[in-house]
Amino acid sequence: MMADEAVQLLVNLVQSDSTNPPGTEERAANHVAEYLTRHDIGVRWQEVAPGRLNLSASLSGATTRRRPTLLFCGHLDTVPVGNQQWSHDPFGAQITDGVLFGRGASDMKSGVAAMAVMMARLRQTYGSESLPIQLLLTVGEEVDSIGAQRFLEEYGVSGIGGIVIGEPTNGQIAIGHKGAYWLEVQCFGRTAHGSMPQLGVNAVDQIIDAANLLYQVRDNLQPSPDTILGAPTIAITQIGGGIQTNVIPDQAFLRADMRFGTPQQQQWVLETWQGAVDRHRQQHEEFRYQCRPLLNRSPLFTDPSHPLIQKAQELCRVDAKTWRTVSYYTDGSVLAAPTNIPTLIYGPGDDRLAHQPDESVLLTSFLECIDFYQELAASYAQGDWELTQMGLPPTEADIV
Ligand SMILES: [Zn+2]
Repeated sequence: MMADEAVQLLVNLVQSDSTNPPGTEERAANHVAEYLTRHDIGVRWQEVAPGRLNLSASLSGATTRRRPTLLFCGHLDTVPVGNQQWSHDPFGAQITDGVLFGRGASDMKSGVAAMAVMMARLRQTYGSESLPIQLLLTVGEEVDSIGAQRFLEEYGVSGIGGIVIGEPTNGQIAIGHKGAYWLEVQCFGRTAHGSMPQLGVNAVDQIIDAANLLYQVRDNLQPSPDTILGAPTIAITQIGGGIQTNVIPDQAFLRADMRFGTPQQQQWVLETWQGAVDRHRQQHEEFRYQCRPLLNRSPLFTDPSHPLIQKAQELCRVDAKTWRTVSYYTDGSVLAAPTNIPTLIYGPGDDRLAHQPDESVLLTSFLECIDFYQELAASYAQGDWELTQMGLPPTEADIV
């Protein structure tokens, strides 16, 4: 009975278009709220923007023994369907041979549904007993993590001792991901007729200089790029400028996607870049530019020897060395990284299918994930293992 109900919840979520942008998470959130309420679990709403609300739920009850909370966290939004042709309706939640298709099937409505069902099962098993388990479903993760940021601002994370992020890992244990820094550089010149470039200042030439300076920094990346989270990357992903072919352009820009395993790597790159630009300016006084970060996400890393990871490995029946990292960033950058809260990333979908046409999830993986979440949460609630309150901010030594 409960398996049918779990699949029905997943179907309802995939059928509720929560594409971001613009961020239409409300209907999906209402399905989860209705499900939790039906299972005697109270929900709390936090308005982030009109019609966009984070949903949280806890298994509070009469008894109290204060222990750090284990927070299960997922996001309600999905990326858009995209321009490529799908062979299944992206909001149809069609099931073929045990595979459910639709936008968000992997990333991450299956994770969200699994977490909600886990909460219901705990309620059923433990009745009104108070358990140190919480659920947080955020809005906005796919664009700017606005939901996680608002949660942090209003409620903080002081009682939270561990976090489980239900992003797709194919049912494997993931212990972290790199941080992301998106840099925009704009250059400013002076227009002139295209036949008289000497009378203007060419902003496109300047942005080419800026691109070369950035790639020089990349080629000299220090310190040692070999961390558990993988080598840092710097890629210029957008470049543009100019008005028309016969006009010397007065504006040009580039955008770069950079990924770092440690905050120190990021700091080194930004400082080295700044130094290179300053030196360039001394030699080229017409070089006028502006830089700004478009996005800044911290890396996330949990020591594999932490009890949260160890318990996950025990439940998955894999040995202590079996863990991976993920290539994408998560709400953990916002919620966990600043105070180094131990975080497990574990979810049913296949991360290679995330953001792709014909995104899907195996229903057996979805159902197995519910069992995993339930066993993990129950073992913590019963006191089989402990979470201590948050540690210190991460240092280079923790991560390298
Ligand atoms: Zn996701």
